[in-house]
Amino acid sequence: MTTTRHRAVARMIAVIGAVSLLAACSGNGGGGTGGDAGNYPDQNITFVVPFSAGGPTDTVTRMIAEPMAAKLGAKIVVQNVEGAGGTVGAGEVARAEADGYTVLMHHIGMSTAPALYKNLGYKPLEDFEMVGLVTEVPMTIVARKDFPPATLQDLVTHVKANANKVTLANAGIGAASHLCGLLFQSAAGVKLQEVPYEGTGPALTDLVGGQVDFMCDQTTNTSGQISGGKVKAYAVTTPERVKSLPDLPTTAEAGLPQLQVSVWHGLYAPKGTPQDVVQKLSEALKAALADQAVIDQMAKLGTAPVPAEDATPQAHRTKLEEQLGTWAKIIADAGVEAS
Ligand code: ASP
Repeated sequence: MTTTRHRAVARMIAVIGAVSLLAACSGNGGGGTGGDAGNYPDQNITFVVPFSAGGPTDTVTRMIAEPMAAKLGAKIVVQNVEGAGGTVGAGEVARAEADGYTVLMHHIGMSTAPALYKNLGYKPLEDFEMVGLVTEVPMTIVARKDFPPATLQDLVTHVKANANKVTLANAGIGAASHLCGLLFQSAAGVKLQEVPYEGTGPALTDLVGGQVDFMCDQTTNTSGQISGGKVKAYAVTTPERVKSLPDLPTTAEAGLPQLQVSVWHGLYAPKGTPQDVVQKLSEALKAALADQAVIDQMAKLGTAPVPAEDATPQAHRTKLEEQLGTWAKIIADAGVEAS
């Protein structure tokens, strides 16, 4: 690991108090370099989450880490390496040892960053081995409980009239919440004051506390707060309603059909990771996604595992290629870039 990564990890440890050990199966501890593909895994595997602990990407990672660890017979340690819309953590994994002991969980942000960041420092298709897709999560548009607008149409009217006052939280440029926020602003024809966080875990805490007005976020983060009445929810950003939130209209039903986005997640290893190691990780991913506890937990949070044939390197690469093209165009049309 590089010094930058050590710093980021140390900061995370200082903030949340500890790195979480997710599964205790076999394995001789340590993590780091080395490793033999034949014996893989014979030490701890680190799963890097490029956003804050407690947020939706973190939640999905922790959900699958335990059954993956059981299948692999090694400990999986989750580390949150936040910053710059997920690009800090992704960059660290791109530069990590290609031995299968450092794995990245990322989402749609892998396909948006190249169009947004001039000096990204990694190339999604060239610097990673794709392990497989994980899940595709709907987003919700949520606001602090006492935010005046009652419906999505009211929200549009309100932000137009109060554009200089309304605050929109996101997890940094290129994050799913940022992209959804862009789509919202372009649909509403407004430019709002955006408040970046290092993940939507802390953003949601501030939303519940009333420090920011509204945001888009995955159902894997917002479901509990919506069901518990802690936030106001306007719509879900997929063509169909979410079973676990049956009263929440779709953006199309609520009058903004052009606002559609769902957040696909995938696992990555650094380029050059031996193919049999990638294969082992992919098989473990498939096993985790077939685990009934994972299926049930995901369903409660408004999502589902991808079909087994999509938890493969080939399907993942195809998806990433397609998404890089889609988002390059949307971002160019929106004229946005990170400084
Ligand atoms: N939901 C966040 C996003 O906007 C990321 C996270 O905190 O998991 O991309």
